[in-house]
Amino acid sequence: MTKLYGGMEGGGTKFVCAVGTGSGNIIDEIRIPTTSPSETIDQAVGFFLNFDLAAIGLAPFGPLGLNPASSTFGSITSTPKPGWSETNIVAPFQKAFHIPISIDLDVNAAAFGEFSLIPDNLALDSLAYFTIGTGIGAGFIINRKVTHGLSHPEAGHMRLPHDRKRDPFPGICPFHGDCFEGMASGPALASRWRKPAETLPNNHPAWDLEAMYIAYALVNVILTVSPQRIVLGGGVMNHKQLFPSIRAKVEKLLNGYPAMPVLTGSMEEYIIPPALGNRSGVLGAMALAKSHARRQSYSRQANLTG
Ligand code: ZN
Repeated sequence: MTKLYGGMEGGGTKFVCAVGTGSGNIIDEIRIPTTSPSETIDQAVGFFLNFDLAAIGLAPFGPLGLNPASSTFGSITSTPKPGWSETNIVAPFQKAFHIPISIDLDVNAAAFGEFSLIPDNLALDSLAYFTIGTGIGAGFIINRKVTHGLSHPEAGHMRLPHDRKRDPFPGICPFHGDCFEGMASGPALASRWRKPAETLPNNHPAWDLEAMYIAYALVNVILTVSPQRIVLGGGVMNHKQLFPSIRAKVEKLLNGYPAMPVLTGSMEEYIIPPALGNRSGVLGAMALAKSHARRQSYSRQANLTG
């Protein structure tokens, strides 16, 4: 019998919960508005209780405690989202289910989904995934694994060159002001131009500036992480005209160094939209659940036979 896996992508406005085989399909799905932690998580648990699942993968927004040795493991740590700081996401699922429960950051799950469920990307060893929307986050697959460190990368907050003559906007990040997220998230666009980002016409100067900040960030990532592919998702990237503009600016900023064929020309296969669309996170959460459950099962077998 085909095993079923649950995946939950928890965002600031909604939690998407889905069930499938962990290979990129969805059998059933529910969207729950993000209200209070107990109300939202109870509804998610209730949805998954309708199925006979082999494992569940949780992928909430962060910042998230991901060090298994720390008391903050599985908890959203200090978020500006009212009521959600210090919320333990894993515990209610561990209480309700006796199956493997895995957890990673939403953007890490999306990176893993794009990497592991897309045959073209699976041929690679590394991939960077950025979500550019209400916030900015990045997940990195290196040596075919999701990258963690102290907790998880926070590349959405990297510092970028800021020409205050061209762009006097001070930025909106409550911690850093004019970091990447502070300058280029959807709310930053809305604040700088005093209208919602989605209402800015394609020929508005906002988009050239936006492409420039994204290109700066990608160049920093190309030079530090050297990913074999970069996927750009999130609501802001629904403005598809950004892609050719970003690619051209990245090529210009790199100026031929490092000299790699993939980094010259149109880069149409290097800087790409998500193949899974806006399902990268929830499908990735399911794929992480499957991968995590398999690893646990192998290590149990190794313990029994070793
Ligand atoms: Zn910041």
